[in-house]
Amino acid sequence: MALYGKMMDRPLLVSAILEHGADQFGQQEIVSRETHGPLHRITFAEVAQRSKKLANALAKLGLKPGSVVGSIAWNNARHVELYYGVSGSGLVMHTCNPRLHPEQLAYIINHAEDEVVFFDSTFAPLIKAIASHCSKVKHWICLSDQANTPQVDGVVIQNYEDFIAPHSAVFAWPELDEKSGAALCYTSGTTGNPKGVLYSHRAITLSALSACLPNVLTISSQETVLPVVPMFHINAWCLPYACVIAGAKLVLPGPKLDGASLYELMEAEKVTISAGVPTIWMGLIAHCEQHNLRFSTMRRTGVGGSAMPKALIAKFNDVYKVDVHHGWGMTETTAIATMSNISNHEMDWPVEEQHNLVAKQGKSVFGVELKIVDEEGNTLPRDGSTQGELMVRGQWIVEHYHKAEKTALVNGWFPTGDIATISPDGVMQIRDRTKDVIKSGGEWISSIDLENATIAHPHVAMAAVIGVKHPKWDERPLLLIVPKPEKSLEKQEVMDFLAERVAKWWVPDEVIFVESLPVGGTGKVQKNDLRVKYGSIFTE
Ligand code: ADP
Repeated sequence: MALYGKMMDRPLLVSAILEHGADQFGQQEIVSRETHGPLHRITFAEVAQRSKKLANALAKLGLKPGSVVGSIAWNNARHVELYYGVSGSGLVMHTCNPRLHPEQLAYIINHAEDEVVFFDSTFAPLIKAIASHCSKVKHWICLSDQANTPQVDGVVIQNYEDFIAPHSAVFAWPELDEKSGAALCYTSGTTGNPKGVLYSHRAITLSALSACLPNVLTISSQETVLPVVPMFHINAWCLPYACVIAGAKLVLPGPKLDGASLYELMEAEKVTISAGVPTIWMGLIAHCEQHNLRFSTMRRTGVGGSAMPKALIAKFNDVYKVDVHHGWGMTETTAIATMSNISNHEMDWPVEEQHNLVAKQGKSVFGVELKIVDEEGNTLPRDGSTQGELMVRGQWIVEHYHKAEKTALVNGWFPTGDIATISPDGVMQIRDRTKDVIKSGGEWISSIDLENATIAHPHVAMAAVIGVKHPKWDERPLLLIVPKPEKSLEKQEVMDFLAERVAKWWVPDEVIFVESLPVGGTGKVQKNDLRVKYGSIFTE
């Protein structure tokens, strides 16, 4: 028989994160840009009190353990109170992506069986559109005070402040099983209906602890962290938990995610670390370039969700003196699963090579294992060049989708749908998603590599590459470019530029200049929309 350790068996719980933050860093601030009014300031201690008032208010509604509470909200202080008050009291916090199509939004609210939905006033029109289709929702509560709560025809709307006001700030958090569900998030559903991932308290706590590590985001009580990554998607990479664990000041941008608003907030609140998707950083850098601005305090940015182009990494590093931590993760991995880093033996590498390294998605964080496999499931070599489907396993990786009968795993590993290489020393690089890779004449062309090469052109603001049906080659790449304001570009110039940087047969067959690209709710270019629009241009 195994000789067991004689240690306490205390559960890892979301409520314990809040209690720790309130006890140890009670005066630390959360600064939040609300939908209405000036910047709102609140301390960890006050958030703990208000979360307990919320827990009491929810208990009064008669919700049972495991009941689901939805949110349709920006990154703001009341949303943080929901994170803790809902999960802490044994209910499940279902964060909904407001940019889903209303039909899909109603689908996930019904599938999850949300009984209460909290929403920011911005989304009142959405509530009007979906309320009559969400029969299980008994309470719609606007994250606001009475004065700023809109009327919605045919829907009874309460306001958050009046909802929690009558209740006590004393609440005994239940001692839950750490494996119970704490939060629920659905995939974006680019193919088929969205699938729910139900995160346990244990998964969230471990993932949040991991986010604090120096090789991940280096979060400590010396830092001021601005998560641009939305709290409605993948738990904002667990930053609202990690900052409370570490005692870091948390700055929340609310609905204003444009370059000018982010820059102003970063400077005003002395932000040191930020996190978001590349499209957000493109907007921020464009604003800084236009007005010749530099950051006074920002020194590190976490980026992921889609590939960060090397040209942007170089700009952040060399011009703006901001270190880029480029990571990879997905709804199914709770938060960050890999992160790029420069190790001590790489510190004296030429800058260009360091940027190449950071442009890869990096090494897995402790607790996450990676491998790549071929179509038969055979493990492929970690040689940095063989490509295969990325498989992942670990303590905070999904096993079953919510309410699914069948496991999501193949032989104990989760198939990510991403195509990657892994180097002998464990550095993973995403080459494409299985559905985006371009199959041309039996060979693969990486849309990500082509986009990265294009974005290096000084007149290109954004680029997207899709595979388009071709009578001879099966598929050929089509390149769409948004030029920078007041910059002109010729098709041939782009082709010549690319011919110097990628294999000749990779050079796209067509280049189309557009004013904008369709960007989805999580800041990614919606390639499905582009495929619908341009999918037959080589066969027409
Ligand atoms: P969806 O994009 O379908 O909404 P997620 O938000 O969960 O789903 O995104 C996960 C996917 O995003 C990954 O499977 C991967 O394709 C992509 N992704 C995440 N981070 C990166 C990165 N750093 N580089 C390239 N692709 C990334």
